[in-house]
Amino acid sequence: MSNTVRVRFAPSPTGPLHIGGLRTALFNYLFAKKHNGDFILRIEDTDQNRYVEGAEEYIIDALNWCGIPFDEGPGKEGKFGPYRQSERKSLYKNYALELIEKGMAYYAFDTAERLDFHRKDHEAKGKTFIYNWHNRLKLSNSLSLSPEEVQAKLDAGEDFVIRFKSPQDEELLLNDIIRGEIKIDTNILDDKVLFKSDGMPTYHLANIVDDHLMEITHVIRGEEWLPSLALHQLLYNAFGWDAPQFAHLPLIMKPVGKGKLSKRDGEKGGFPVFPLSWNESEGYREAGFFPEAVVNFLALLGWNPGTEQEIFSLEELVKTFSLDRVHKSGARFDPEKNNWYNQQWLQRKSDEELAELFMKNPSVASRGVETRNDKKYVTKVVSLIKERASFVADFWELGDYFFESPTSYNEKAVKKQWKEDTPQIMNEVMSLLENIDDFTSSNIETIVKDWIGKKELSFGKVMPPFRLVIVGDMKGPHLFDILELIGKKESILRIQKAISSLPN
Ligand code: GLU
Repeated sequence: MSNTVRVRFAPSPTGPLHIGGLRTALFNYLFAKKHNGDFILRIEDTDQNRYVEGAEEYIIDALNWCGIPFDEGPGKEGKFGPYRQSERKSLYKNYALELIEKGMAYYAFDTAERLDFHRKDHEAKGKTFIYNWHNRLKLSNSLSLSPEEVQAKLDAGEDFVIRFKSPQDEELLLNDIIRGEIKIDTNILDDKVLFKSDGMPTYHLANIVDDHLMEITHVIRGEEWLPSLALHQLLYNAFGWDAPQFAHLPLIMKPVGKGKLSKRDGEKGGFPVFPLSWNESEGYREAGFFPEAVVNFLALLGWNPGTEQEIFSLEELVKTFSLDRVHKSGARFDPEKNNWYNQQWLQRKSDEELAELFMKNPSVASRGVETRNDKKYVTKVVSLIKERASFVADFWELGDYFFESPTSYNEKAVKKQWKEDTPQIMNEVMSLLENIDDFTSSNIETIVKDWIGKKELSFGKVMPPFRLVIVGDMKGPHLFDILELIGKKESILRIQKAISSLPN
């Protein structure tokens, strides 16, 4: 085996990749890159009944969108291919037969009905039926039947499975990088099916054989696979192969309370649980998240850097990541915090890039305002409003008045700010603006403030209603910056409009 770190992400194409699967892929990627190793994508599609069209493409698109492409996998053949288990089908049977020869596996002919009968029979007696040492000799298999009987059944083409013969009365010592040592009493294990007569291996056999043949050094996967670890270790022992090291990542928990995060939580809480959209479900990409933000929040689900640092680029994560800072306990999924990460990453984007995204965003692209197509103008708008935005789509709500004159005025603000003498004051402000040639923020500010001083007016009498007529509300950045950007003509029009539509 080479010394290069080789890890794999091994999804089954049974649907879209959810956020937990993506976190597994990310941790594999980070670990591989940290150790200058290889990140492999293997598609575990041995269960044809659960195969979903388009799922493999979806997985690949999601990894690419996050900026964590695989080094080897479907379409990127390396020397360990093919990388789809369905295309490796022919190689698994011999491994199952090898275990039969070694006396570590056996043929079983029990029909589904028979097994169901045993299950129900046990249940009725308050017991659980487990196919293992404890009753295998009473069932229909190559341990209980004579070699002739077995051969006759095989010759007659009867359906069979090949089961692993779990050892009796042994204590198995397992090792997990995150969880440490785990002791297992082999008597509790059942004789798992490794191979079926339809010519397909089960997950367990194909997974172990491929990890071995692909020279995988570390298996990093979700906690839901921890119960399979004993069998996997036993299979490595049975074949006489060195096992890779294992690391089982903690579950991702619901935003509130206990339990594993599910698709339903997303529907209830109005947040995505898929990276990209899938049928009716919106993905993080479509919801306006930056891949940097998704990678950042996923990295901190179950891992911590041991410092207060929260914002990490992918490169920083590669440098900082280590499996010994992954915790055992479940990681709570916090949609609010995810929005915060997006807000943070949005602030790190250039105004030009944000302007381009905003111009394409449906919230502005569908509007009939001309300025939405003026990149220089939009870039300036973005520079003034982005601080408060978590998403590009927030820009419209935060800065609509940069594009359209207000169509209404905040009622509460009108009540509070629009006094009897306000129309007169606004009239004077208007004349003041008309005479300003250098219509820049600082110049307008100096002139307006001087005028307020000279007239012995208070700022409170002028500035809030002034903002109200320009913006339609009390929101927005520095008012004089807004005036400069919308320009003299538009500023004056807005004052006129307000004077004629608000109470005199
Ligand atoms: N095919 C399994 C899955 O769908 C892979 C589990 C593993 O990584 O061993 O997650």
